Amino acid sequence: MKSKIVVVGAGPVGLAFALGAAALRNTEVTLIERQTLSLARTSEHFDTRVYALSPGSKIFLSHLNVWQKLPAARVTDVDAMQVWGDDLANESQIKFEENVAVAHIVEHAALMNALIDSLQTRDNIRVVTNTSVSAISDLQTPRQLTLSNGIEMTADLIVGADGARSATRDLAGITAKKFDYESDGIVANFHIEKPHGNVARQWFSGDSVSGKSILAYLPLPNQQISIVWSVAKIHANGLLALNAEAFASATAEAGQHALGKLTPASKVARISLQKLTARDWVQPGLALIGDAAHAIHPMAGQGANLGFADSRVLLGALQNRSALSVMGDRRVLRGYERARREDAASMGAATHGLRALYLSDAAIAKRVRNQGLNVLNRMPLVKALVMNHAMK
Ligand SMILES: Cc1cc2nc3c(=O)[nH]c(=O)nc-3n(C[C@H](O)[C@H](O)[C@H](O)COP(=O)(O)OP(=O)(O)OC[C@H]3O[C@@H](n4cnc5c(N)ncnc54)[C@H](O)[C@@H]3O)c2cc1C
Repeated sequence: MKSKIVVVGAGPVGLAFALGAAALRNTEVTLIERQTLSLARTSEHFDTRVYALSPGSKIFLSHLNVWQKLPAARVTDVDAMQVWGDDLANESQIKFEENVAVAHIVEHAALMNALIDSLQTRDNIRVVTNTSVSAISDLQTPRQLTLSNGIEMTADLIVGADGARSATRDLAGITAKKFDYESDGIVANFHIEKPHGNVARQWFSGDSVSGKSILAYLPLPNQQISIVWSVAKIHANGLLALNAEAFASATAEAGQHALGKLTPASKVARISLQKLTARDWVQPGLALIGDAAHAIHPMAGQGANLGFADSRVLLGALQNRSALSVMGDRRVLRGYERARREDAASMGAATHGLRALYLSDAAIAKRVRNQGLNVLNRMPLVKALVMNHAMK
């Protein structure tokens, strides 16, 4: 008999997992998505939602035959990073080995198109859209689901990939520890006057307009950049009230005019920021992956990378389970949780801690953060750690 896997949530992480799961022996997959799922039209405008994908994510997506479907003209390699603390005169350049891209900037729409296109080549994935989950049975396996359209189904394994506000997590009775950053991630794209040189730039600084903020410039093709500006809500309201030109000037100013004049290339959008960790990631017949299990501050651009690593490790655990164990075996799923929890927790703690250090007014914190950013390049161990995480 075939094993039945139900994946809830067709974001990047759920789609990638569903593709990998469909390749497991004797398995059929049902993918449930609350919204419609269709190929986005790519235009000359770039999506404002972009991911800095690690070399590890690239390898995983290549194994799924998804990376090959990304149009080369819409992917930008990042060859180096420059970071400034609030001592703006002191920049710290983090250089990586030559010819090794530390990340690849990929638009959400292009990534989703490649994933959805791959989905259509699989005949053992059933996609149910415009539907969510309204009930999940208790801990007995196989588990039963009731969908919002009234349909009931049975699953050997339910995989919750439905993002930070996961209904799967809630319906399974799993609580989550949450921290509201009371900040927004403001995202927008700009045409730039000077070439970005495939360098990602980040400023831990601020002024009277943005308060203490964290601004990232991510390189895009065609002399453009995408920004993620993490700003306290009170300042975000002010920035979003500016007209397009004034917002572009404020963004250029906060980035020390490093790329000359910025000209708006998109609308400006905001995303509320929070940190979240699910108390349990697994139950008999159920596992959480991606933002449903953990959400972190976007300053390190690692959220989707962590989610792809979850997918990869869970697929490995399912593939390598003993012939006697069933798909939703709690011991198999616990192996996944053990393998992944520490990695996600350490990245969450690192971004959380760096933000707290940055926001602290204490003189010692100021010295540590400026010198800390500055010495990064001269400390092989720290650099190796950064590198190591980037490669995952
Ligand atoms: C400003 C910002 C910048 C970021 N930049 C980066 C970056 O550079 N690199 C990086 O790796 N990460 C980045 N991230 C993090 C990244 O966006 C997330 O980690 C990633 O989107 C998580 O993917 P996911 O598939 O787990 O969840 P989501 O992308 O949230 O997808 C969840 C899916 O589930 C669906 N869904 C929700 N509820 C239900 C339901 N009840 N039933 C059915 N379907 C449901 C949703 O419609 C959606 O399709 C950033 C985040 C922010 C806020």
